[in-house]
Amino acid sequence: MKTCPQCKTEMEKVVFDVGYGVNVESMHCKKCGFNITEKDTLKTALDGLRQQMRKEVKIVQIGTGLGVRFPNEVVKSYHLKKGEEMFLKPESDGIKLVVS
Ligand SMILES: [Zn+2]
Repeated sequence: MKTCPQCKTEMEKVVFDVGYGVNVESMHCKKCGFNITEKDTLKTALDGLRQQMRKEVKIVQIGTGLGVRFPNEVVKSYHLKKGEEMFLKPESDGIKLVVS
């Protein structure tokens, strides 16, 4: 049993869903809310998430311009809303969309 580094209370194991059916196990302190997640656990979960996120999207015509239709699960996960602004960031392997 692990004890909380902040308040020395016994910690309990919790599993939380980071989305797309990917779960992360971590230790949680009920008393002060301190959370410990092993680096490797988090990395594995994030890698899994990235794989799941690799979705093909279609470029669609919007008025006289072009747009991209996001899959519903992406809309839900990132709480995307119509009219919201996103940033386009050039990356070495493509373009990154950053939700503000
Ligand atoms: Zn604590």
